[in-house]
Amino acid sequence: MSERSVLVTGASGYIGSHTCVCLLQNGWRVIGIDNFSNSSPKVIPRIEQIAQLPMSFHRLDIRDTSALSEILRQEHITAVVHFAGLKSVSESVAKPLDYFDNNVCGSVALLRVLQQEGIRKLVFSSSATVYGEPTSVPVTEEASTSATNPYGRSKLMVEQMLSDLINSDATWRIATLRYFNPVGAHESGLIGEDPRDVPNNLMPFIAQVAVGRRPQLQVFGDDYPTVDGSGVRDYIHVVDLARGHLAALDRLLNHAGSFTVNLGTGRGVSVLQAVAAFEQASGRTIPLQRAARRSGDIATCYASATRATELLGWQAEYGLDKMCADHWRWQHNNPDGY
Ligand code: NAD
Ligand code: UDP
Repeated sequence: MSERSVLVTGASGYIGSHTCVCLLQNGWRVIGIDNFSNSSPKVIPRIEQIAQLPMSFHRLDIRDTSALSEILRQEHITAVVHFAGLKSVSESVAKPLDYFDNNVCGSVALLRVLQQEGIRKLVFSSSATVYGEPTSVPVTEEASTSATNPYGRSKLMVEQMLSDLINSDATWRIATLRYFNPVGAHESGLIGEDPRDVPNNLMPFIAQVAVGRRPQLQVFGDDYPTVDGSGVRDYIHVVDLARGHLAALDRLLNHAGSFTVNLGTGRGVSVLQAVAAFEQASGRTIPLQRAARRSGDIATCYASATRATELLGWQAEYGLDKMCADHWRWQHNNPDGY
């Protein structure tokens, strides 16, 4: 048995699946768990097909502590990457208790079992949403945090809980990764983002317009103080993001202590620039409709990515053209998802 075994919660989800591929390809034995509340069992064989390596998988809810303990005892886990959670801002406003139960209580349940089993290395999926409305860009990890909706609050609560846990027991080594806007797909076209309902996020929406599933894209806001009036974000290729988890795990294995880092490219891209790049990559026209600003949206958000480079030796490698080309290949090959 390999010495390095990692438990991945939310393994069949969008970011989890790409990270499992990356971990397998880099010598980790991977034990995935997921309850399939927002993903498909078809993902697991595709991960194995890309990596040409097997992984273990258990269908499980992270709140099922007895089943979780059992798996940890069987599998000799070195570290955990914790993706499992709900992620829709609008759904969190409608169903806040579901979000606190799944994201916060789920993380408490997981951490209790890890503590009990003596596993002290964890990578946590946080989000740039914890910066609320940034007062300046690029956003550094020192920027103040706040939440404007239950989803963001659930991420912030888990961050605060992890900080208290580290203060209570210095043997914990926890990497908190604040993702900016993950997009794209594995270049095989076998795995990618597969929203169950109408996509909330820009890139999957554009992709569904390009493939003919939706007639047009609504552009939310044309009077932001940006290059062309549309909102600006830091889109990051999901494979670059997956590599960031590998780098974080390597750091946790080799250094005591905990850290928080942004995972972004450091570059801002407007909605209209993203549309133009996707049209170029797909050869399809994306019909646009101007719409009012989306409630709660901010004008501009992009990362300061220097800490990740200094601490982890990681930086994003792929640009917007590759993000769009890979996202399009996935959508084109799988027009209805998995
Ligand atoms: P996703 O929905 O594709 O993946 C999450 C996975 O977790 C799904 O497969 C779902 O079935 C599983 N899951 C949910 N609750 C569970 C539970 N209680 N027990 C077991 N499995 C459970 O989402 P993603 O985009 O891959 O996001 C992964 C993580 O990254 C989430 O925590 C999300 O909040 C965070 N994040 C995502 C983004 C983004 O834009 N995609 C940005 C910042 C942070
Ligand atoms: N956006 C848009 N139309 C859509 C979805 C998103 O114009 O159908 C815009 C949104 O207003 C924002 C940007 O695209 O300026 C990114 O939105 P997304 O929801 O993907 O990310 P977030 O706002 O959560 O960073």
